[in-house]
Amino acid sequence: MSEHSNNNVQKNDFIRNIIRDDVNAQKYQQIVTRFPPEPNGYLHLGHVKSICLNFGIAEEFGGICNLRFDDTNPTAEKQDYIDNIENDVKWLGFEWAGEARHASGYFDQLYAWALQLIEQGDAYVDLQSPEQIKENRGSFNEVGTPSPQRDASVAENLALFNDMKDGKFAEGEAVLRAKIDMASPNMNMRDPVIYRVMHQAHHQTGEKWCIYPMYDFAHPLSDAIEGITHSICTLEFEDHRPFYDWAVEKIGFDLPPHQYEFSRLNVDYTMTSKRKLKQLVDEGVVSGWDDPRMPTIAGMRRRGYTPEGLRDFCERVGVTKVDSVVDFRLLEFSIRQSLETTTARGMAVLKPLKVTITNFDEAVSSWESQKADSVNARWDEDAQTLWLKQPKHPNVDMGEREIPFTETLYIDQGDYEIEPPAGYKRLSPEKPEIRLRNTYVLAVTEHITDAAGNVTELKATIDPATLGKNPEGRKVKGVIHWVSASLGVPATVRMYEQLFSAEDPSSVSDVHQALNPNSLTELAAVVEPSLANADAGTRFQFEREGYFIADSEEHTSDKPVFNQIVSLRDSYKPAS
Ligand code: ATP
Ligand code: MG
Repeated sequence: MSEHSNNNVQKNDFIRNIIRDDVNAQKYQQIVTRFPPEPNGYLHLGHVKSICLNFGIAEEFGGICNLRFDDTNPTAEKQDYIDNIENDVKWLGFEWAGEARHASGYFDQLYAWALQLIEQGDAYVDLQSPEQIKENRGSFNEVGTPSPQRDASVAENLALFNDMKDGKFAEGEAVLRAKIDMASPNMNMRDPVIYRVMHQAHHQTGEKWCIYPMYDFAHPLSDAIEGITHSICTLEFEDHRPFYDWAVEKIGFDLPPHQYEFSRLNVDYTMTSKRKLKQLVDEGVVSGWDDPRMPTIAGMRRRGYTPEGLRDFCERVGVTKVDSVVDFRLLEFSIRQSLETTTARGMAVLKPLKVTITNFDEAVSSWESQKADSVNARWDEDAQTLWLKQPKHPNVDMGEREIPFTETLYIDQGDYEIEPPAGYKRLSPEKPEIRLRNTYVLAVTEHITDAAGNVTELKATIDPATLGKNPEGRKVKGVIHWVSASLGVPATVRMYEQLFSAEDPSSVSDVHQALNPNSLTELAAVVEPSLANADAGTRFQFEREGYFIADSEEHTSDKPVFNQIVSLRDSYKPAS
């Protein structure tokens, strides 16, 4: 079973069932899959599904999975994308077999095979303009019109293809086409273009070529070169499969690869298209490919999503041939689950309201005689601070942290209401008492308001007999979090909503109309020192607030920056 599998239940999707049959029939020596991104952007959530499927299958069946860059279109591609794609796959927890491969690494072989097709009478150079070629392809109701070059001799085609290669044609003046069937009901079989002229340097092969193979031609043959047994892709390639089979058949392989299609991952309020995500980056709508709101792997990583959570999500989504849209809350559910037992706790006040404890001296000076046995603390006389030692996690051993308790504190503005709504369980003039997490019971004695009537500060007392103990003779309901005003650290906390307000952002013609104006809110928060002192990239649960990560780029102990990963809970429950 896969080391990444969260449970030991055998996965029974239709692709794994096919492979299981092939394994049982000993059809192949080894299962070989591949993940074949085009390096024309950063990977996104949809690719995570494809990665988990291809690498997961290789692991489960004792096979291997290649990483191959299908880099047949140099205009849109660059090395930066290649580097980031490699980084993303590794971060998700997968290892490809050997070196990463490139379709461009096979250009010599693909060229030789193009010559073979010409010699076999299976390909010809077409000198029609791109418009004529399109026009003459016909339509669903109308068969195509053969090109005037369709029956040219092998010698003539070889000469013209050589001229293409030697740069004697401008882009669009000549293409190499497979000679299949201009009347095929499948438009992809009406003599598809397999090589085109492109006077463009390539990020891997430099100036060597001015003709490049089309993706549909390079893909099956690259699979064949690598001995891929199961070429797994998304459903939009189903109509391309006949050409895939045609290409490997015409070149002639003993054990040709086979293509299997599954439905793409679609998630509501999310966009999974490199091209459209690139537009957001290029226009500065987001801060970059790794903006924490982006559904790119880089964005999700910076947001604090975990590889375990993403893999769990893909397992829950499963693999089918049915197009569907997945509820984004399932993704959040998986992420949240992966954080529950892996993140230290801490207190952060996101919207600070100052509280002055008017009996601090008297109350805290007696702390030693009054504390419960369970309380671990030390008094710092110089700093007038009671340092409370608390475990970082209530039931996983992650060590301890020290929380400073001082005369002035912050609590959250939302935890005090002059006129509380019905059912409100926190502080109000009618219910002035509450427990401060990890320390005393506090009683508000006075609130101070500004001219507009907003509460700007509270005065309060603490009950000295309640350090780690319930008060005697009365019940105090509710617990709130707090941070020392003098020793807490001001922090920027970024709260996120979905980047898009449209359920299906791809269906909105102008992507700007689909954006959620509230996708990012920056708060001036205050956090306890253990949070500020954490390394960039550390994830936490902020008590009562949610899961957060110290931003990998901007966080420092002096100027902490946290990104909200996901809220603490949601009523959403995945179907089991
Ligand atoms: P995009 O349109 O975003 O560029 P793509 O399909 O063109 O996506 P590729 O780089 O060619 O991107 O894709 C690499 C692999 O990832 C392909 O096998 C493709 O089928 C798969 N893939 C892409 N998008 C999804 C998705 N939404 N769900 C599942 N697999 C996907
Ligand atoms: Mg693409």
